[in-house]
Parts: sequence; structure tokens; C-alpha cells
Amino acid sequence: MPYLLQCRRYRLPLRAPLRTAHGVEEQRDGLILRLEDGAGRAGFGEVATLPWFGTETTEEAEAVLKEIGPEPGADVLSRVPVIFGCLRHALAAAQAALAGDDDGAELEALPKSLPVAALLPAGREALPRIGPLAEAGFRTFKWKVGVGDVADELALLDDVCARLPEGAKLRLDANGAWPRRAAERWLERAAERPVEFVEQPSFAKAAEGTALVRRTEDLLMGLAGDFPTPIALDESLVGDGDVARWLAQGWPGVFVLKPSLCGDVSTVLAQLAAAKAAVVFSSALETAVGAKSALAHAFRWQGPVRALGFGVWPLFADARFDGPFAGPFLRREDVARLNPEAVWNALS
Ligand code: MG
Repeated sequence: MPYLLQCRRYRLPLRAPLRTAHGVEEQRDGLILRLEDGAGRAGFGEVATLPWFGTETTEEAEAVLKEIGPEPGADVLSRVPVIFGCLRHALAAAQAALAGDDDGAELEALPKSLPVAALLPAGREALPRIGPLAEAGFRTFKWKVGVGDVADELALLDDVCARLPEGAKLRLDANGAWPRRAAERWLERAAERPVEFVEQPSFAKAAEGTALVRRTEDLLMGLAGDFPTPIALDESLVGDGDVARWLAQGWPGVFVLKPSLCGDVSTVLAQLAAAKAAVVFSSALETAVGAKSALAHAFRWQGPVRALGFGVWPLFADARFDGPFAGPFLRREDVARLNPEAVWNALS
């Protein structure tokens, strides 16, 4: 019995413009899939593309869906190339929802809440934000670095650390901005400070050529071996294949996993669990549809809990599309309450 596969595109204005490594975004663009089985039950999935992060574009995903057609078989996932990590994720999520993987009974056995990391703005603006966030209960803080001059930002590090509450941890996210020397200076300085990890100090996109990608990956492996502070991969992990590749190379650091970009994420997580890898779950700026699926994976993770990178909502001008509000903790019941069908209906 074939499925019935439908798709609705969304273009949602954001509540406030979002500054990314590639400029300013004012809207979020993607697809919601609805997969209906022979019994008339429906599962939903979200194609939350982030092309500036190295994923497919929404148009490319739509073109593959056109080829697949409206009545695919149970092997639908195998018809999508591995590089289409967002589309593969959406189809796998819709199939999992149909299989009852996110029903209430299973969720009952999971933690009631998970901690969330507070996001600090780049530069000096971070300083006045730390006190109120600590007061609210946050104990993990993520500071955007690699935005301004290296020396200026380094000079602020001790001021940032001094404002952290007792026992708090700081994540430094460079979004791939640093050449070798800058990365080394930061990693030298991070040692002996309460830095949980340095996220993606350097990065080269596939489009920049295999030679540069290989050199950058060698640099990351070298830095991970030379400094005591762990390094986290984020931009380096897009699509199902990347995690397996880094695991095979023996990556000793942290994996920042955006489930929405990682294809068949159950398989990816099984690989990470088998390797006893350190995993941080992180948002790809999804609607409630992608949020429900991504966060269900985070709550099911059996390894050590690290603060979630999901403090992104409210995100959309139209609050019907938002994922759960995240204070210092994100509650399982708020994830269970998300209603993918309502998002689907709101797009009609
Ligand atoms: Mg990051």
C-alpha cells in the first residue's frame, strides 16, 4: 500500500531579524510534509533547510519531492540522496510519527525537563546580559565569538567569565571564523577557564573545494589533540554521512547535533551512542513540527545530559508556528503538547 505524500511550503516572517554568519534573515523558509498511510493516519515532518549552513535549498528539496511523486512506497527514504539531509530527516520523522514513536506512553518514561543554554550576543553586549540570565536560573552560557577583532574579543573573555555564576559553564561558538593562529590563541586562553567547549573554531564549506575542506578537517583534528579544552563540531555536521565520517576518524570532541539537518537521525544517534560520543542537541530554527521531532530525540538520548541549544522560540511573527518556550529548562510536557497538524492546517 503506497503512502499519500503532501507538502506545504512556508515563508514565515521572524519576530525580529536574525543575524547569522551569512547576513541578516528576516523570514524562515521551508516545507511541512504530511505522510498518510493506508489506514488514513497521518505523520508530519519538516524540511527545515539552512542553505547558509550547507544544507540543500528548499527549492532543491521540492524538486526531489516532485520526482518521488504523491504516492511513494515504504522505501521512500532510500529514494532521497544522502546529501539531502533536511528532506531525509522530514520523511524519516513522518514515518516515525506514523509508527507511533512519539506517543505519550513512551514519553512518560523520559526526563521531565532538560537544561537549556542561554545565548549571549557577540562582543561587549554579552556582559550586562549574564546577570539577569543567571538570576533566571541558566547555568550554561553560549557566547558568540569570531565576530569582531580577535584581540578585542579575547580581552573580554575574563570579564565574561567573572560574571558567570558559581559552577556555570561557558561555550564559545566561533561559527568557523578563525584561521589556525586565532584558534590556537583562543584554545590557549580557554584552558583553565570554565569553558565547556569551543564550537567550530574553523570551517570550510564543500563548495570551497575538497583540498581546503580536508586541510580544515586536519586542522580541527590537530587542535583537538593539542589543547585540553574540548572542541565541538556544528557546521561540520550536515546530512547523515558527516557524523559517521567524524566518528570513523576518532573525533575526540563534542558533536553539536541539529537533528533537523541530519537525515535519518535515529541511525545517526545510534552511531553516536555506540561510540559513547558527547552530544549537544541544537535547533535549526524549526517550526513546532520540526521542534517536536528534534526534541523527542533529545529527550530520548541515553548519554550524559548537556544543556540544549534550543533557546530560540518565540521566533516567528505568527506564534502558532513556534516551538516550546525555553527558559533555563525545557519541559517534556511542552514538547508532547506540540501539534504538527495545527501547523499544517495553519498553512492551508
Ligand atoms: Mg554553532
